[in-house]
Amino acid sequence: MNLDFLEIVGKILDKSEKILSEYPLCNSCLGRIFAKYGLGLSNYERGLAIKTLLSIKLHIEYTRGLLNKEHAYKLAVNAGEEVASTYRKLYGENIEVNECYICRNKLTKDFIREVAEKACELLKNHDAESFLVGITLDKDIVEKELEILVKYGLESSESIKRELKREIGKAITSICGIPPDFTKPSAVLMIELNNDFKYGTKIQVNPLFYSGIYWKLGRNISHVPWYTKTGSKKYPLSIQEAVEKVFGSVFNADEVVIHAAGREDVDARMLGSGRPLIIEVKSPRKRIDLNELKNIVENSFKNTPVVLSISSSTTRGNIARIKEHSKRKRKIYRVTVYVSDGVKAEELKTLDEYFVNREITQRTPTRILRRKKDLERKRKVYMVKSAKISNNVFEALVYCDGGLYVKELVHCDNGRTTPCFAGILGKKAIPVELDVLYVEE
Ligand SMILES: [Zn+2]
Repeated sequence: MNLDFLEIVGKILDKSEKILSEYPLCNSCLGRIFAKYGLGLSNYERGLAIKTLLSIKLHIEYTRGLLNKEHAYKLAVNAGEEVASTYRKLYGENIEVNECYICRNKLTKDFIREVAEKACELLKNHDAESFLVGITLDKDIVEKELEILVKYGLESSESIKRELKREIGKAITSICGIPPDFTKPSAVLMIELNNDFKYGTKIQVNPLFYSGIYWKLGRNISHVPWYTKTGSKKYPLSIQEAVEKVFGSVFNADEVVIHAAGREDVDARMLGSGRPLIIEVKSPRKRIDLNELKNIVENSFKNTPVVLSISSSTTRGNIARIKEHSKRKRKIYRVTVYVSDGVKAEELKTLDEYFVNREITQRTPTRILRRKKDLERKRKVYMVKSAKISNNVFEALVYCDGGLYVKELVHCDNGRTTPCFAGILGKKAIPVELDVLYVEE
């Protein structure tokens, strides 16, 4: 027999005997102390093996007349039934065993199973695809465990917290078939234990994120619901509400939030390429396959003023990316302009020729000064293509930097935007309708 092995086993037994003569420990709590020995064994099995060897040792010492009865008694009451049964046979005395110093005999398979069953219920209620277990322990339990480790200079121990996490996790997967995920779980189970092993379980479901594009085919549709001071809605429909209505019911979610790559004015339509957005579904209780979602979205947004298309699932990290992206990316607008003094084709030609790679200086528009700081910004207009519609109306396509205020580009905002259409035309010009046709990828 390998001597090294016998030496290690001897040391484990010696140490266990010392610990058990002072502290009562159940199989799991004893086995956990020597967790690095015996691959594939549970702490319970390891603890049981140690106690079995101790019983054999007591018997051998007894038959050789080397056993101290007082010592044997201490071991028997602290090691539980495994050693107590030997003691009773050897001395013919009935003795009662003590409760485990760390877990008070609560850390049992039944306990793990009960916690896992409750957790499974919560996971199922939220249709979770994967999970992670988090444990908060009463400090009493942690301190007792530490006390033994420090006292006996033990290094090979696993913590009770880690054992609970692992065993509850394994039990959850075996009971309801949901796998753990240590990096991107769909739900986190927070289990809090008091010093009597009474516990509470909370579930925190991670939100789902979907990338898509929306189009706004009508005007006077706000981005999010817009309430007046009296509490009534200023516009009957918002993109947020349109999306929430469908996603809220598909996912049975508490809250749905849209994160768009910029936004257009309430009275502007969003046509052409549409505008990218990310939809965040908070605390979903139901999950569906991406293709199924795409179909539902396609059907739900048919013939409605807001149209949505979903391309993929995504992560929170991409929200900042699409928002930043929209600030820099160029756009094409279509603006319909009314000129009360009338407009000639030659004047429009001058307008088109002037606005080529032209830098525009804009102070914050008067219409939003109440909400935003008065700043100066510079944006470029790369190209303008205008066409006369009637004596007083023309339409212009404006290809420009993201963030340019197009209405102000037309009417000059009392000189706060320069140069501008009205300035070049030498006439008053009013933007009547505005559409976003293209948001650069
Ligand atoms: Zn225990």
